[in-house]
Amino acid sequence: MAQTHILGYPRIGAQRELKKALEAYWRGDVTQAELLRAGAAIRRDNWKAQHDAGLDLVTVGDFAWYDQLLNHTLLFGAVPARFSEGAADNRLDQYFRLARGRAPSGEPAAASAMTKWFDTNYHYLVPEFAANQEFTLDSSWLLDEVREAQGEGHAVKPVIIGPLTYLWLGRSDGDALALLPQLLPCYEQLLRQLADIGVEWVQIDEPILGLDLPAAWRDAFAPAYAQIGGAATAIRLLLASYFSPLRENLSLAFSLPVAGVHIDCVRAPEELPAAVETLGAEQVLSLGVLNGRNIWRADLGRLQAQLQPVQQALGERLWLSASCSLLHCPVDLETEQALEEAKRQKLAYARQKLDELKQLQTMLDDANAKIAEGDGAPAVPANTTEALADTWRPQSYAERAPLQRARWQLPLLPTTTIGSFPQTDLLREVRSRFRKDEISRTDYEDHLRAEIAEAIRRQEILGLDVLVHGEAERNDMVEYFGEQLDGFVHTGNGWVQSYGSRCVKPPVIFGDISRPQPMTVEWSRHAQSLTKKPVKGMLTGPVTILNWSFPREDIPRSESCLQIAKALRQEVLDLEAADIGIIQIDEPALREGVPLRDSEHRDYFDWAVACFRYTCAKVQPETQIHTHMCYSNFNAIMDAIVALDADVITIESARSELRLLDAFAGRQGGYPNEIGPGIYDIHSPNVPERAELVARLRQLLEVIPREKLWVNPDCGLKTRNWAEVGSALLNMVEAARSLRAELEVAESA
Ligand code: GLN
Ligand code: ZN
Repeated sequence: MAQTHILGYPRIGAQRELKKALEAYWRGDVTQAELLRAGAAIRRDNWKAQHDAGLDLVTVGDFAWYDQLLNHTLLFGAVPARFSEGAADNRLDQYFRLARGRAPSGEPAAASAMTKWFDTNYHYLVPEFAANQEFTLDSSWLLDEVREAQGEGHAVKPVIIGPLTYLWLGRSDGDALALLPQLLPCYEQLLRQLADIGVEWVQIDEPILGLDLPAAWRDAFAPAYAQIGGAATAIRLLLASYFSPLRENLSLAFSLPVAGVHIDCVRAPEELPAAVETLGAEQVLSLGVLNGRNIWRADLGRLQAQLQPVQQALGERLWLSASCSLLHCPVDLETEQALEEAKRQKLAYARQKLDELKQLQTMLDDANAKIAEGDGAPAVPANTTEALADTWRPQSYAERAPLQRARWQLPLLPTTTIGSFPQTDLLREVRSRFRKDEISRTDYEDHLRAEIAEAIRRQEILGLDVLVHGEAERNDMVEYFGEQLDGFVHTGNGWVQSYGSRCVKPPVIFGDISRPQPMTVEWSRHAQSLTKKPVKGMLTGPVTILNWSFPREDIPRSESCLQIAKALRQEVLDLEAADIGIIQIDEPALREGVPLRDSEHRDYFDWAVACFRYTCAKVQPETQIHTHMCYSNFNAIMDAIVALDADVITIESARSELRLLDAFAGRQGGYPNEIGPGIYDIHSPNVPERAELVARLRQLLEVIPREKLWVNPDCGLKTRNWAEVGSALLNMVEAARSLRAELEVAESA
């Protein structure tokens, strides 16, 4: 009989108990003892869920107060020096200082950097290594959790991140790989300790095996695993990789001295035959056959048919699992109150995936126990390619720019913002009362119109050149469009951890997407009626809507993306018809969808970029299309950015100290269209000084031609308050004005 296990379970709790407990502790509302109890209860529930579902092993070590990689940083004692001054009174506060820069005890210090975990929307805390970094094992928390689970009577499999992935994900002054000899003794020691308390299997995650690794990193695997595999003969290692095909690393993975290998059969089903073939005579093969990245029920009948021969060949050496940790799924469908039954039938959250594993195990064991094949719609042939064949605007940027200049008559260094203005407490309250049916739609919309009027009034006083309506009607830039478009379903409790206590609730693309009616036109029209200055229309782009939703699996993602693009094209044309002649289409998630393997980038960018262009290919040349992205490292994707063919791009740059300029200035002749590198960081409450902003603009003018430079903040302002926003924007407008005057004087001299 095949064995069942998972790589990890969500740690936020079915009702986001961890979020609530953490935030209460940080606010000082509960004691640390209460927080610890809340965490222990979540762990106990998670193990019990696995046990009750009938899984053969229960996974331990996937719990984290903030982030699993940060757990490892403490596990190996790799705490950066700045956290040792004014250290906290206790270990957990020390941990929170690393994560957030502050904790109930200890001095504040600059928080660790955060970045996306592979191609997911989960963020991990980046380890920081000194050149001569030393590591010392502090395994008490992990051993305690293992004992906790053993105490509940579970057959326990701890999970740890492997040494190469841990080093790869860190930032270091020198070569992180050179730290490996320092780090490996910690792993040896840890595995020995686990063996001592009766652990048999340890899951060791090396997802970097799915990347295009430099040779030195690949070559480091065999000696590293020889060392740690050898140290703990009593421990059986299950090497896990996920999110991406193993390809050239496949034989490497199976040749390591590990007792088993887990592969992601959802992302790389084509590797199953090679894996079976390469598997050592004693090795276990764990197949990630349920999608850990999505919320659809599996087609168990199909899996049964596919896996039957594998089961016959491997027997107990076949393990069944989800493709990756279930961290990336919501917790429990049972907590969904309002979902229609017909829709609920199609879904499986983490808890339901446990049952699916058990069911699959039973079906494989008893060939007669075939259940009806899922009613998943058959894959429809994609017509994406055809529809996206010609998406370019008829005129080039060089032809459009003079027409736009003539129409808009903007000054040099035009000032603008990224779209949203502060979402005040009052606005949130009004929205929540509207959602609870406590106030009428008319009253709600009246309030939104008043918010918009206020935003316009303030922008006029500040003297901005291109105004925005402020996005008062949006709670979230994807959810808002998901709610207006047909084809999306919104869950009530489909929360997924994004980082720390923060969770997101991605909409679900349930069917074909279309736009029943205009989505933003009335708000933009209202804003424009209040001012003579141009008001920028504000849309979320098709790739971002796709990448921040749970996608369908019965058609390619590119196909859903095109459907969204078609809906957005209608919206763009309706905005244009309503005299909104500057339209911004945000794509902050374009980079997130980039496949982990270089060889697949081209295909992704081909359709993603074409879908973006599709949304605006039909507008008049005088209509100015903006786009926005909130990151700065464009080096790898510069060609795609250029191919978006937006007239203006605004990007994040304040925090990266203008590092991005290498990318934008480096290309032959530089970035071809107009660009607004954010000149101050909106994530900080600090108001930037005028002189600082002038200096930044001067720096920018050294690499960007003056007629192509826009002046704007890094991102939207919805998380700030009006006092900060007013002062910051005033300084920004003044800075632009003083440079503008200088440039004009120089011109006339
Ligand atoms: N227009 C959006 C805003 O200003 C953009 C947000 C984003 O890039 N994440 O809020
Ligand atoms: Zn942004």
